Amino acid sequence: MQVEYMELMAPAPGHSVRLQVLRFGQPGQGPKAYIQAALHADEVPAMLAALELKKLLLQAESSNELLGEVVLVPYANPLGLSQHLHGQHHGRFALNDGMNFNRGYPELAPAVLEQVRTLVSADAQANQRIIRTALKEAADKLGATSSVQDLKRRLLQLAIDADIVLDLHCDSDAVMHLYSMTAHAGIAQELGAQLGAHAVLLASESGDSPFDEACSRPWLDLQRQLIPQSGSQSIPLACFAATVELRGEADVSHTLAQQDALALMNFLRLRGLASAQAVQEKQALCDPTPLSGSEPITAPCAGVIVFHRQSGERVSAGDAIADIVNPDTGDVLTLHCKSAGVMYARCSTRWAHAGKRLAKIAGTSLARTGKLLSP
Ligand SMILES: [Zn+2]
Repeated sequence: MQVEYMELMAPAPGHSVRLQVLRFGQPGQGPKAYIQAALHADEVPAMLAALELKKLLLQAESSNELLGEVVLVPYANPLGLSQHLHGQHHGRFALNDGMNFNRGYPELAPAVLEQVRTLVSADAQANQRIIRTALKEAADKLGATSSVQDLKRRLLQLAIDADIVLDLHCDSDAVMHLYSMTAHAGIAQELGAQLGAHAVLLASESGDSPFDEACSRPWLDLQRQLIPQSGSQSIPLACFAATVELRGEADVSHTLAQQDALALMNFLRLRGLASAQAVQEKQALCDPTPLSGSEPITAPCAGVIVFHRQSGERVSAGDAIADIVNPDTGDVLTLHCKSAGVMYARCSTRWAHAGKRLAKIAGTSLARTGKLLSP
């Protein structure tokens, strides 16, 4: 294992912020996996799982089982780790500009399109190398005018040339679930099966460019642009990326972290990063569903939230999900869902403002459009 520290742009004179990067295996030999934890800095189960994964990777490395390169960033947002306001940790949005740490990543397909258009052929492997090199060069050229931008470009530079990108998060109060690209449904289901995911949510574009899509979607965009000239099989979707939600923010234990790290390691083994002889295929707990069918249960007014259902429960269309109780009048407004499916997440606080998302259901009957993720 090689330990590297990247010095980020200092937020102010006298401050120093650095990113720890752990490298396992041999670069350039076999596939590359990139894994980062807690991009939303207050989503801490991922950090503990990453430390357990580090142990497993060290073991695999010392027994010469690694067949590729793994880059692990065990805490991906040192800026967010220090953001406290009136005793509360704020890791989702940068306090200086309110931007979500997992939105607004650069879309690199347009930057490389004209360059690779002249180089691609009917040879899919050669095209993969050409496109990957071009994407890496484009990422390396990204500039930054703030510490947050600097963090985002560094993370993308580390991940953009990987075959597998796993962005480890958690939700507020949730069961295991993950997000990935529709075209990668099969691999996403394999990952979900290893992790014991209760929902696998797929979209080709979920809106506002989260990190995983900035890594995987350039290939889809380039495929759409280049296939007419180079043939139908010639542009592979060579980066599988997923946002993995390791349950809820309070689901932190050594046992869960060890279990999740083993699942991630087994997935890496199945994808060719290490010997897969001892890995058991697992039965998926769910089929993938479209992210556009995920139903947010939204509070139409402020009030006290009283849930009728727990995260992980299956619900039917029309079921009561939560009451909103008006403390002024005592009026109770019961919110029902439109979709049948697994209620995979709910909020962890019990006061609603108007418009607050209270819960999410992995349904199949809705077809939402526009921005599909929570803000
Ligand atoms: Zn997150």
